[in-house]
Amino acid sequence: MCGIFGVYGHRDAAALTQLGLYSLQHRGQESAGIVAVDSAGRARISRAMGLVSEGFGDEEMKELRGSIGVGHTRYSTAGGSAIENAQPILARVRRGHIALAHNGNLTNATELRRELEDEGAIFASTMDSEVIVHRIARAHGATPEARVAEALVGVEGAYCLLIVIDDTVIVARDPHGWRPLVIGRLGEGWVFASETCALDIVGATIDREVAPGEIIAVDAHGLRSTQGVASATIHRCVFEHVYFARPDSKVFNGSVDKSRRALGRQLAIECPAPGAEVVFAVPDSSNSAALGFADISGIPYELALIRNHYIGRTFIQPTQAGRDAKVKVKYNPVRELLEGKSVVMVDDSIVRGTTTRGLVSLVRAAGAREVHMRVSSAPIISPCYYGIDTPRREELIAATMSHEELVHHLGVDTLGYLSLEGMLSPMPGGPGGYCHACFSGRYPTAIPSEPALLRAGVTVGQPIGSPVGVA
Ligand code: AMP
Repeated sequence: MCGIFGVYGHRDAAALTQLGLYSLQHRGQESAGIVAVDSAGRARISRAMGLVSEGFGDEEMKELRGSIGVGHTRYSTAGGSAIENAQPILARVRRGHIALAHNGNLTNATELRRELEDEGAIFASTMDSEVIVHRIARAHGATPEARVAEALVGVEGAYCLLIVIDDTVIVARDPHGWRPLVIGRLGEGWVFASETCALDIVGATIDREVAPGEIIAVDAHGLRSTQGVASATIHRCVFEHVYFARPDSKVFNGSVDKSRRALGRQLAIECPAPGAEVVFAVPDSSNSAALGFADISGIPYELALIRNHYIGRTFIQPTQAGRDAKVKVKYNPVRELLEGKSVVMVDDSIVRGTTTRGLVSLVRAAGAREVHMRVSSAPIISPCYYGIDTPRREELIAATMSHEELVHHLGVDTLGYLSLEGMLSPMPGGPGGYCHACFSGRYPTAIPSEPALLRAGVTVGQPIGSPVGVA
């Protein structure tokens, strides 16, 4: 999963992009990057491992001149966590350059890459996204957007793309619309972002969503929209609303806070906890759902777990060792609110169970008499191949344990999950048109033939752009 942000037509494009990336930090914390293009058509790149706040010093920012900016925050779902896999990708081609930032996962990247390698292409990263750069470089269309459209024919899976070809910004969303992408206006300029919270931070107004399958080009002549890949059935990712997006964002034209509260209310109806005295959230992603649960159940909502904000999302650590260590330092219970009480702990999802198990034992050690776990989503039972990091079924505890085993393993008194229907019912636009493969195992499209290969990437060569470079 990743966050993408782009600006066209603003003299502070790189600085605005950096601000936008701060707002999209929750979508990826492994690396961040910005490409800026100046009026002479020179593209400059700065990429670094780690957080946006760590990645760009004053010197780098001064170098990133021009009125076009494209940025990316990454957590790896295809290709490992390393600087050569940081985005945007910047490549020198024929007489110009291509810069590309991608959110999503391509399901046929391995096959597309082999085809290109058979023809002699040399890859510089292990990311699925790089195949699109190669395909654009080989396309012959008369306009940049025509070349992107040509490159995307036969590319399957989830993608929201921000691309710069010379001095044109091109935006594309896959025809199923898995991942969100919005367009905003900032004065005479245009802003593109994974979530609306990133438009807010730069003072842009929301124009509209990029439509599934739409390809938009912006250049000195204005904005042009075309339907690229033939339209298909819509499969927006329900997990964006359950967990991933920020509650202050509108995603798929609906408020994330509103849908999370509705999920919490529905959870209180489906899985009440009679006799419980306190409801609390596992902060921050389940705050809104816990408020919804408290609202319907009438059980007081308390801030019984305090999160250390200097620690990132525990799950977005690529290794289990990293995840284990971080759970311990991330949360602390408020003993006074828990001691001797029967409590409801609301979380939005359980994946591997590492966080949940650790939290239950913290809450018990703080004196809670009974712990009733309530989850504002259905059990996650299948890996996602469309951009969320839940790659192997064996790691998903709800896929491998019975309900009784889960209760025992997590150490809770009771455990309640939302039903699939209950989870889908409050989604913006109604329950249809959402991908729920990770909850139902019903994949809406063909899945990768070699998922392990897709995740690990295939080979590692030299980076296309050096951490700071010019193309
Ligand atoms: P665990 O108990 O280890 O399965 O972790 C569950 C926690 O991870 C919950 O608090 C979720 O909010 C969070 N979570 C769920 N899915 C993801 C994901 N794909 N990436 C990062 N965090 C996640």
